[in-house]
Amino acid sequence: MAVNLLDFDLDGLAAYCEQLGEKRFRAVQLYRWIHQKGAREFGQMTDLARSLRTRLEGSAEIRPLRPAGEHASADGTVKWLFDVGGGDVIESVFIPEADRGTLCVSSQAGCAVGCRFCSTGHQGFSRNLTTGEIVAQLWHAEHRLRERLGLAPGERAIDNVVMMGMGEPLQNYAALIPALRTMLDDHAYGLSRRRVTVSTSGMVQMIDRLAQDCPVALAVSLHAPDDVLRDELVPLNRKHGLDELLDACGRYLAAAPRDFVTFEYCMLDGVNDSDAQAHALVRLVRGRVSCKFNLIPFNPFPASGLKRSPSARVAAFARVLQDAGIVTTVRRTRGDDIDAACGQLAGEVQDRTRARERLLARRQFPVEVRPAAAEAR
Ligand code: SAH
Ligand code: SF4
Repeated sequence: MAVNLLDFDLDGLAAYCEQLGEKRFRAVQLYRWIHQKGAREFGQMTDLARSLRTRLEGSAEIRPLRPAGEHASADGTVKWLFDVGGGDVIESVFIPEADRGTLCVSSQAGCAVGCRFCSTGHQGFSRNLTTGEIVAQLWHAEHRLRERLGLAPGERAIDNVVMMGMGEPLQNYAALIPALRTMLDDHAYGLSRRRVTVSTSGMVQMIDRLAQDCPVALAVSLHAPDDVLRDELVPLNRKHGLDELLDACGRYLAAAPRDFVTFEYCMLDGVNDSDAQAHALVRLVRGRVSCKFNLIPFNPFPASGLKRSPSARVAAFARVLQDAGIVTTVRRTRGDDIDAACGQLAGEVQDRTRARERLLARRQFPVEVRPAAAEAR
């Protein structure tokens, strides 16, 4: 099969070009054609020697994702579905804001972590996406949006990428790193490190590796102030508990482009949203890791059996954190009319690991968790 040039960061592309007998500056030209101009055909690349174009035509391709749907929300949010073969469909979401455009990118078809409140987790896990498939989401969205929004040459639609679509990015580390490098490279998308965010449910060793290999903004999905509850909500916690996770966050900050970690906290009615739990969170993080909180009102889906915290409860919870001096925001729900909100990205996934079965098997909270949470309200 032809080599997919979207699989390469600039160093990878330079190595490939070298095999074809070409110097690094040719790789830079090629990289710019692909990512800055959105070219798909080598024939378009008029400043490359004809002989190189012919050689590329014989051995390589720029392989886009196969679109399986595009939905625009009343609020400007756009969701794309991509058929990645084998019965798997993944999703990407563009969220326009007054001062920036954010693309939410998927890293896996499904997810094996199996968080209780996440519809991707409920689907189970099929496979890791390749670097090319991760990058192709940005490639497609950026160039499609430039066309749709009628942007002038040089203007870009997306200046912020969050790895918050389907999947656990740090469980697909080898493919993630070159994809991040392409997002950051000035010859490609030129995004600021502060505006590329990896969101993780807490892969402790991989957080350390990310700090070494490609430090970008870090978001950690916390969801609970103690290990008993977090073990239930985010099964990964049973391996690496909160103590280890917070230490890893602290270490990450030494290399991070921002001086804080963002903790995401999905607000679940009667489960993790009491004032007592907010105070416990303050005790957990204060003086230990410089952080901001982003509270995400739970986006329900039928199989979850969970409910969204009422907005007054979310506000009261936020106030406890804010009164303790922790910057706390509440995420506005965007694109829920097209099922594009956080945690609603389910695509369509063939569960090859029985992750879904395992999740369904532990659908009920153990009795000791729910009443304790309810009493604390
Ligand atoms: N796997 C990574 C990134 C993808 S999930 C992670 O877990 O961080 C992106 C964010 O959406 C996470 O913070 C996750 O907790 C949140 N999320 C998942 N399901 C949700 C739901 N149903 N409602 C609201 N937020 C949800
Ligand atoms: Fe996976 Fe993140 Fe969903 Fe958990 S919240 S199941 S880690 S995608």
